[in-house]
Amino acid sequence: MTTTTTMTRLIRAQTLATWLRDYGVANAMEDIAHHIHDDFLRWPEFDKSARVACHSPDGVIELMPVADARLFSFKYVNGHPKNTRQGLSTVMAFGALADVDTGRPLLLSELTLTTALRTAAMSALAAQILARPDSRVMALIGNGAQSEFQALAFQRLLGITTLRVFDVDARATQKLIANLAGSGLQIEVCRDARHACEGADIVTTVTADKTNATILLPDMVAPGMHINAVGGDCPGKTELHAEVLRAGRVFVEFEPQSRIEGEIQQMPSNFAVTELWRVMLNKASGRTSPEAITVFDSVGFALEDYAALRYLYVQAQSHGLGEWVDLVPALFDPKDLFATVTNKADAIAAA
Ligand code: NAD
Repeated sequence: MTTTTTMTRLIRAQTLATWLRDYGVANAMEDIAHHIHDDFLRWPEFDKSARVACHSPDGVIELMPVADARLFSFKYVNGHPKNTRQGLSTVMAFGALADVDTGRPLLLSELTLTTALRTAAMSALAAQILARPDSRVMALIGNGAQSEFQALAFQRLLGITTLRVFDVDARATQKLIANLAGSGLQIEVCRDARHACEGADIVTTVTADKTNATILLPDMVAPGMHINAVGGDCPGKTELHAEVLRAGRVFVEFEPQSRIEGEIQQMPSNFAVTELWRVMLNKASGRTSPEAITVFDSVGFALEDYAALRYLYVQAQSHGLGEWVDLVPALFDPKDLFATVTNKADAIAAA
């Protein structure tokens, strides 16, 4: 007997891509931003931990679990900046949502596209809190897989109208321009990162290189800027000069994880940072003046994937997104797992 009580919903990469074409990437990111916000407001209810990372010379593979009293989620994700040279994505992911009461897996989903959606949604959410409300120009440094999602999230949620783009790979920038044609965004191609920062209200760094890079130097940062630092997300992989962090106030997702993986890995352990949920719950201040410099030191936290998986599960339930799969066996007698490997199960089914 196979019923929906034992079945798991599966969302394949192509299924989600087709659904997003119809529903709209910006619409989905706006929805996910709301889900992330709702879950960050419930921060103390979650069982949180820094992700488990398995490092190799060219990359990292990570597991990211989180749970509240009702749902458990995890994400498997990698980060291999050299992958694109061999036709593979830098970041690839999948994950699951499960029922805490029984442990039953409810949803197994692609999370590569979803990581791009939730990362951009989280960046835009942080910027809604931290950037100047009149921000209209964003520098976008690193024009790879994540970049269009960042651009569209900031257009939708912040009202960004102009992008100043730069990538060391001119083909990546041309790809971004082609993908964003028709978006209404004005795109200015810049000769280097310094040029991209000129006149920018917000600077997004979303480069991939397993090194302590200095994409942003202190003299490239202007009063009032908000910096959305996305690409530095594991030990030995940073994008900002340490003095950029000292120039403003730094906001993080989950401090214990960010101390290991974020831009702040460069700083002493007593360097002050603020977790974003505290600003959302009015327990800490965000931007304090139009001239202040704010930094969102994004590394990607499990709760963002939990929120995205929760959103996808709602789409599966209400709009039929995905398909059912028998990830766990359906049993006539839950103590008789062995029946599934004998012909007893067939005989019972036939009776
Ligand atoms: P990608 O490889 O598709 O694109 C990265 C781009 O950065 C490439 O086009 C590359 O040419 C460019 N680049 C590298 N060094 C540069 C430099 N010095 N100046 C300008 N451009 C440079 O990777 P992606 O999937 O877009 O991911 C980008 C980064 O974001 C990765 O480091 C990834 O690990 C990180 N990431 C972070 C989160 C998060 O939650 N914080 C989530 C997803 C990805």
